[in-house]
Amino acid sequence: MRVLVTGGAGFIGSNLVRRLLADGDEVVVIDDLSTGYAHNLAGLPVQFVEASILDQQALAAAASGVDAIAHLAALGSVPRSVKDPMASHHANATGTLMVLEAARREGAYVTAASSSSVYGSVPDLPRTEALPTRPMSPYAASKLATESYVLAYGTSYGLPTLPFRFFNVYGPRQAAGHVYAAVIPMFIDAALNGQPLPLNGDGQQSRDFTFVDTVTWVLANAIHRKVSSDVPVNLAIGANVTLLDLIAELEGQLGHNLQVEHRPERVGDVRASQSDPVLLRELFPDVPVVPFTEGLASTLAWFRSA
Ligand code: NAD
Repeated sequence: MRVLVTGGAGFIGSNLVRRLLADGDEVVVIDDLSTGYAHNLAGLPVQFVEASILDQQALAAAASGVDAIAHLAALGSVPRSVKDPMASHHANATGTLMVLEAARREGAYVTAASSSSVYGSVPDLPRTEALPTRPMSPYAASKLATESYVLAYGTSYGLPTLPFRFFNVYGPRQAAGHVYAAVIPMFIDAALNGQPLPLNGDGQQSRDFTFVDTVTWVLANAIHRKVSSDVPVNLAIGANVTLLDLIAELEGQLGHNLQVEHRPERVGDVRASQSDPVLLRELFPDVPVVPFTEGLASTLAWFRSA
């Protein structure tokens, strides 16, 4: 298949590109390198279009002749969106609309990345897709727009589509060392550089950490089978790991204690997040689950070698 990966120079995108190439697909990437890196794709036989998905001409050229689009391009991070909501809206909401228009012209299958942040302040755990959504940040609102547009294009134009709600994905190639880095690369980077781990809040926040290989397996499988859904599907396996658990696991794997620098809780952050993966298992019965200890060890090994 010929597959367009938007945001393919980013963390999840560059892992997905590797899997698609290994599966024998032809891959086109569009990425403006706003948070991704060209070196994530170095040496790979992909057609790389360095442009924003908001650039209609560049997007149309990248999408020309594709059978499927994995739409991952977005400005991630809750704090980034609190600081600059318009930028998140343009990239995540308007950008999704642009990608869907390109898909409509090509008659291409679309799978896209929404986020568990759309559940926001809904207290129920674990999260099932039947729960209401209550975004707590501009990022979450923009992801609700993403998944809503993807579903709307399914019903309005008969396009086969599948929006996934990613939870906390981690693994090799996740960016560290910038102010909006996710917690696992941020902690690993600090630990390997002998710095204290910056911990926002009391550390009892819990997350459903999902190893990136599980996510790319599901995305590739969805693309190859053109799996569609008229509801968003949680893409996580039901883990429930607190940040204090994460620190303890890192200490165990590194073989020494880690210093922690306590910081205030972040605006817009949810307290607890865990998926109920019933629907995911219905659609993808063979979804591979990587235990947290194993995924963290692979991630640590990658950071040590990078
Ligand atoms: P990432 O920042 O590493 O990747 C996003 C990529 O999109 C980057 O390469 C960036 O340069 C590109 N991009 C941003 N705006 C663009 C634009 N206007 N045009 C073209 N390219 C653009 O992030 P990631 O962790 O790989 O996330 C991939 C997707 O998954 C995003 O949609 C994100 O919102 C979603 N998601 C990720 C997580 C997670 O835990 N990593 C959780 C929930 C949702």
